[in-house]
This record gives sequence, C-alpha cells and structure tokens, in this order.
Amino acid sequence: MTKQELIKSRRRYLIVAAAPCLVAIVLIAATALVMARWEDAHRDWPHGLWPVANVLAFVVIIAVILFVALFERWVAARCGFRCPHCRKALVGKLRRVLASGRCVYCGERMLDDVA
Ligand SMILES: [Zn+2]
Repeated sequence: MTKQELIKSRRRYLIVAAAPCLVAIVLIAATALVMARWEDAHRDWPHGLWPVANVLAFVVIIAVILFVALFERWVAARCGFRCPHCRKALVGKLRRVLASGRCVYCGERMLDDVA
C-alpha cells in the first residue's frame, strides 16, 4: 500500500463510518424521545408493562451501539487499517503510520513509498 492509497482509504473510512454513527445517534435520540412521551400518554397501562417497554428500548439502544461498533470494525478492515503483519487495528494511529510508513505496534513496514 502506498501513502496516497492509505490517505484515500482514510477519507473513505471517515465517510462510510460516519453515516451509521449519525443514524445511531438519531435512533437513540428518537427512542429516548418516544419513551419519554409515551410514559405520560400511557399511564393507564397495566402495572409492569412500562418497565418491560423500557427494557425493550434499552435493548434496542444496545443493539444499535453494537451494530455500529461491529460495522466500524468491518469498515476499518475493508479500508486496510489493519497491519498485515501483526493484524492489529490502526484506526486512530494513521497519522503515525503515514509519517513513519511503519506499524506503530510491531514496527514492520506498511507503506511502500515511505522510507
Ligand atoms: Zn504490525
């Protein structure tokens, strides 16, 4: 991989990984808003139903967070942000990789055009 290819991959990663994060924020905020409004509108629900609805909303929020975390890992792997030698994730360390051309963990050469 060359330095320019890594820079292009980083741009693609930021665009592709940001979209599900924004969707997750909207979904979590919408779930919280709906739950807050429903509590007042459904005070006549049978006893015990409201806690079940809250637990379900919590499960939805956790599922969204897990999905975004797994999706981010998948996108990072697809963009080549793993060291081909030690297989460690390099998201958040790309500036150091771009500067040195080497993996920040194992020190093996990653970029073909950086000395
Ligand atoms: Zn490495």
